[in-house]
This record gives sequence, C-alpha cells and structure tokens, in this order.
Amino acid sequence: MKVNKAEIVISAVSEKQYPNDKWPEIALAGRSNVGKSSFINKLINRKNLARTSSKPGKTQTLNFYNINDLFYFVDVPGYGYAKVSKKEREKWGGNMMEEYFSLRDTLRLTVLIVDIRHQPTEDDRLMYDFLKHYEIPVLVIATKLDKIPKNKRDTHLKRVISTLEMDEDDAVLSFSAETSEGKEEVWSYLDNFIK
Ligand code: GDP
Repeated sequence: MKVNKAEIVISAVSEKQYPNDKWPEIALAGRSNVGKSSFINKLINRKNLARTSSKPGKTQTLNFYNINDLFYFVDVPGYGYAKVSKKEREKWGGNMMEEYFSLRDTLRLTVLIVDIRHQPTEDDRLMYDFLKHYEIPVLVIATKLDKIPKNKRDTHLKRVISTLEMDEDDAVLSFSAETSEGKEEVWSYLDNFIK
C-alpha cells in the first residue's frame, strides 16, 4: 500500500474518545522497546510519526492513526518494561485495554510484535492469550530480522510459534525496520483486513 496520509487523530483513554467513522482498525501491541514504533514508521514511510521512545511513566494512551482515510492503526501501550512499577503494570492490564479489546467492533486484527532473536517472554504469552480470549485475529511480527543469520531464521520463527502456542489461523511474518525486509509481505497480509 502506498501511504499518502498518516496522522494521529486522538490519544484516547476511554471509549467515548474513540473515532466513530467505522473504519476498520488494526491494533499494534508489543513489549516496550521491541521495535513497535520503528515497525509502524517503516511501514508508513515516516521518520517519526510514532515516537521511538519507551520511557516508563509515559502516559498510557491508545493512539489512533488515520491511514489514507481508509483505516486506523491503533498503537496500544507497550508492556513488560522492567522498570515500570507494579502499580503501573496493574494499570496497564486494567480498564483501558479491557475496554478497547472487548468492545471495539471495528477492530479486525492485532499485530503483536516480538523480537526474533529471543524466545517470546511471559508477557508476550500473556498478551497473545489476552487477544485470543477476545477472539481477535493476531498477526505476529518477528522483528529485528537483520540481527540473526539467515540460517537461523526458521528455527527462531518456529520457536515463536511454539512458545506462543499460536492458533493455526494466525500467522507469523519476519520483518526488519533496518533493511525493510518483509515489508511487502506485511502489507499484503494487512490488506485482507482493511478491505
Ligand atoms: P518501541 O519501544 O517498541 O517503540 O521500540 P523502538 O521502535 O523505539 O525500537 C527500540 C530500539 O530497537 C531502537 O534503538 C531501534 O532503533 C531498534 N530497532 C527497532 N527495530 C529494529 C530492527 O528491525 N532492526 C534493528 N537492528 N534494530 C531495530
């Protein structure tokens, strides 16, 4: 997809702030510092639309990005940041996320970003299970592909699938924000959920 328009519409904390044009939505989730902002920015050819920062204590909001007046990317707060207090962690799992994922009927797909170098963490597993609990289709992106040798790709992807105990209907694609590898495949997968 050629992205001509990409702009933030609202940073929402509750349902009454969500846009109501009924456009399809694709949510983006991942551990803090996993490469989520780099993924979005590379996908839509922007240098810094989604801020590449993962400072703890940052306001936790759902950021709705209008893409081509066609659909929304919804950036959800990163999780699992080691230095975030227990109280903030509990807040993360609280009402805002529950409200969004349980109520949002325009949500078509959630992209869950993991690091291809490492086995998915317990937090990644919890996130995947949380999404499946609400019966939301998930595309797992194994990013930082440039950081592992080619002959290890298959093994690492299989480890992602088995650790998350992924549903057969869900897919995993590898990606690099450094080299753009995988970008076309990601867009052709997302296209099916936008139309
Ligand atoms: P976020 O907190 O999930 O939004 O993570 P960022 O997008 O800010 O990325 C965290 C760090 O990982 C930054 O230093 C990025 O430059 C780096 N990074 C993100 N994606 C990639 C990638 O595909 N390859 C490499 N080599 N580095 C990446």
